[in-house]
Amino acid sequence: MDLGIAGRKAIVCAASKGLGRASATSLARAGVDVLIVARGAETLEATAEAIRRETGGAVSTLAADVTTRDGRAAIVAARPDPDILVNNAGGPPAGDFHDWAEEDWHAAVEANMVAPIMLTKAVVDGMAARGFGRIVNITSGAVKAPIAVLGLSNGARSGLTGFMAGLARDMAAKGVVINNLLPGQFATDRIATMVNAEAARHGISQDESRRRMAAAIPVGRLGDPAEFGEVCAFLCSVQAAFLVGQNILLDGGKYPGTF
Ligand code: NAP
Repeated sequence: MDLGIAGRKAIVCAASKGLGRASATSLARAGVDVLIVARGAETLEATAEAIRRETGGAVSTLAADVTTRDGRAAIVAARPDPDILVNNAGGPPAGDFHDWAEEDWHAAVEANMVAPIMLTKAVVDGMAARGFGRIVNITSGAVKAPIAVLGLSNGARSGLTGFMAGLARDMAAKGVVINNLLPGQFATDRIATMVNAEAARHGISQDESRRRMAAAIPVGRLGDPAEFGEVCAFLCSVQAAFLVGQNILLDGGKYPGTF
């Protein structure tokens, strides 16, 4: 399918690995000029080169931390007029809420709520003025059904979701489409954190923890990041113009609700 976004410009945050990388790859394949951001420059450059090789697309890089004001300012300076923004950052640590200090909550809210809101604020009016914009927030299935060991994620991402629900309606008439994409469990580096946390919680091996995780998903396996990237690119397409303010759960059927 031609997504109708060839030549558009994108910022993809937290994109040297995992879901961000896969989203950048799918956008580059659709002909989008992609700026990928992550903190570690070496992996970022290697990823950019791999995406160029795989897609033949235009990929530039910026080593920056999305959770800092300076990092966000550098991103906007590098690409002040994006047509597409994919908000993403590392996830908060797993654990028990009794052990989290106030600073832990501030860090989670900064990374998984404030950072995407501030980046959106910096670019959304320009998108509206140009009459086209797509913003995808990578959040988590934890927004729809809480994950026991991820209270920081359950809380911080729900704040982002509430804000974006309102903004998506405000921007809808201006050609700016905002949606959230909720990963279930995908085979990335991040999932190893979850595998280990669940192994410790249940006193089982990491292999057994991973096996149980896959078995609990109706598809019978973890998600492939490439599957995530393709849905992200679709949410950025011209065809997605009427898909507004939704929380799209991509979890292999794990969430047990009828809708
Ligand atoms: P991942 O494979 O660990 O990749 C994380 C990427 O984010 C890396 O490129 C990392 O590069 C970058 N990053 C982390 N912190 C950053 C920061 N402050 N500023 C800029 N870049 C940053 O993780 P993932 O699995 O793709 O997960 C992406 C997001 O989806 C996370 O928030 C995660 O919690 C959430 N999620 C994932 C799953 C899953 O199954 N994988 C499920 C639910 C939710 P640097 O470290 O070099 O910066």
